[in-house]
Amino acid sequence: METWGHLEEIQPRVVNVLSRTLAKNRLAHAYLFEGSKGTGKRKVALQLAKSFFCKEVKGIDPCQYCVDCKRIEHGNHPDLHMIEPDGLSIKKHQVEHLQKEFSYRGVESAKKVYIVDQADLMTTGAANSILKFLEEPNGATLAILLTENTQKILPTIQSRSQSLSFAPLKRELFLKMLEDMGISTTNASLLASLTTSYEDVEQMIEADWIAQARSVVIQLMEELYSRPTQLLFTIQEKWLPLFKEKWQLETGLDMILLWFRDLLFSKIGKVDHLAFVDQIGLIEQQALHRSQQRLSMNMSYVLEAKRHLHSNVNPQLLMEKLMLSIQEG
Ligand SMILES: [Zn+2]
Repeated sequence: METWGHLEEIQPRVVNVLSRTLAKNRLAHAYLFEGSKGTGKRKVALQLAKSFFCKEVKGIDPCQYCVDCKRIEHGNHPDLHMIEPDGLSIKKHQVEHLQKEFSYRGVESAKKVYIVDQADLMTTGAANSILKFLEEPNGATLAILLTENTQKILPTIQSRSQSLSFAPLKRELFLKMLEDMGISTTNASLLASLTTSYEDVEQMIEADWIAQARSVVIQLMEELYSRPTQLLFTIQEKWLPLFKEKWQLETGLDMILLWFRDLLFSKIGKVDHLAFVDQIGLIEQQALHRSQQRLSMNMSYVLEAKRHLHSNVNPQLLMEKLMLSIQEG
């Protein structure tokens, strides 16, 4: 079970501030957590909510077993509300709905928490409604706004909340966490090269997608130079079924990009950060016959293909064209 001590390993500075505040029982009315995707903002927000509600806190750590802790864990605590974008934005009626619910409950002393995820996507109307809330702080209400983009938060909201910056996770730390989750070293090093976000990892390890995706990418990269006649068949039979959704295609292209980056790393003798750790033999062999210039060209083709993804291009054509450009160098 997660303790503040565990979270401190991920976000030492933020957790340090919050732990001291919790120990003194002097939480602010509103917090603005800012930092890139996957830096633990949501995790810390939920932990803060648990410490705020839990009646069995040990020091500052929530017990994790009481009704409050369990309901928060399962996302059904009646006094904890999560506002998330409805489509592309967070709309005024979402905020008003929440405020109405809070006022119905009415019990003056009851504690309430609301977490606004991707708060930068609030419409002006929604932001102004939240602002009214923040201007009339109620001792028992805690607001936690999460954002990847502080510049898009109204200055008036910023000035009424305490900002905490979440730093990007260090690769070593992230690798260790993935391995603690039971993910194999080969998959973990690829995952850690693709993302530093838990949510992304959870999506990619579902139904062992990452392992299958990884092996198809390796197969493609091997055939690219040794059995080019096989390529179209492999794209059709193996690539397309696994890389159907947009995020999968995007991740697949990122993996190919990482393959060429690994070749470049191998060329300059920097092999301790390979994404495809167990493929070092093949990587060194391929790197031997390709110039740095050619590898950079190949990477630019992959980046170009990634840009085309946004214009609804046919995925099969996209891949075929990409492989052809790379072969022709
Ligand atoms: Zn508890």
